[in-house]
Amino acid sequence: MKLLKSKLAVSLAALSILFAGQINAGDEHHEKSLSFKSTKLTDNIYMLQGKGGNLGLLKGDDGLLLIDADYKVMSDALKSELGKYGGVNNLNYLINTHWHGDHTQGNKALGHHAQIIAHDNVRTRLLTTQEIKLLKIVSKPYPKHALPAITYAKRLSLHINNEDIEVVHFPKGHTDGDSVVFFKKANVVHMGDHFFSGMFPFVDVDHGGNVLNMAKNISVVLGMVNNKTKIIPGHGPLSNKAELQAFHDMLINTSAEVTNMKSQGLTLEEIQAKGLSKKWAKWEANSFFPTKVWIGIIDGSLSN
Ligand SMILES: [Zn+2]
Repeated sequence: MKLLKSKLAVSLAALSILFAGQINAGDEHHEKSLSFKSTKLTDNIYMLQGKGGNLGLLKGDDGLLLIDADYKVMSDALKSELGKYGGVNNLNYLINTHWHGDHTQGNKALGHHAQIIAHDNVRTRLLTTQEIKLLKIVSKPYPKHALPAITYAKRLSLHINNEDIEVVHFPKGHTDGDSVVFFKKANVVHMGDHFFSGMFPFVDVDHGGNVLNMAKNISVVLGMVNNKTKIIPGHGPLSNKAELQAFHDMLINTSAEVTNMKSQGLTLEEIQAKGLSKKWAKWEANSFFPTKVWIGIIDGSLSN
């Protein structure tokens, strides 16, 4: 067990260096224009893309509901983007799909306006210091107004703007506090970071995430959607059921490749050196990190 942990630490150290590079590159790219790209999904639902995780927005006579809040650096841009839909004073609800800063730092700017809703474990984590060693990120406790005031354990329903919204907890997925948000009438789903469309995902194994269980959760979602469902991933472009299915199959099949090599007696380093089948090359090309880091995340999931 000790050995496994030290092997994981090596691969994670490699990721933190590479991922830090990615984040810096991203900063430079976005620094020039801190703005959101908006995609209209239905008459009153939009996907907003800024710098961090993708956002979902529902507008209507009852006010605005927002899913996720991006990085702090995006807060001014987010407020001005919301101006196009009735303004931040019209924002009634903000759902956090999980605690990571690229989805929740905007709570600090928006929490004075909206009720923040999340799974119980999101509030628990935001109350204390959290560290993602893999990404060299430390998250300090959030101020009171930026914490979820409404938390739930299994599922929560909201009925606004003639829409029925189900916020459903899927355990041990990307973290230990993930929500997937279903707009039932509109047939739109926000997956949070249970879905990195077309790429290897970051899975926060140190905070209750697990690749194999995440795949199980996604198979449940696949049974709840259809070919017309518009699926907002945590990261990546607007997607559909086929793309979510492909992501699920990638999780299962790359995990099986790693399991296979382990059962042949290969060490993590040997598996990382050997790599995965060539068919996953385009997933790596779209990812925030190289295949060997993905192999480390799978290995961490297999051994916890
Ligand atoms: Zn995340």
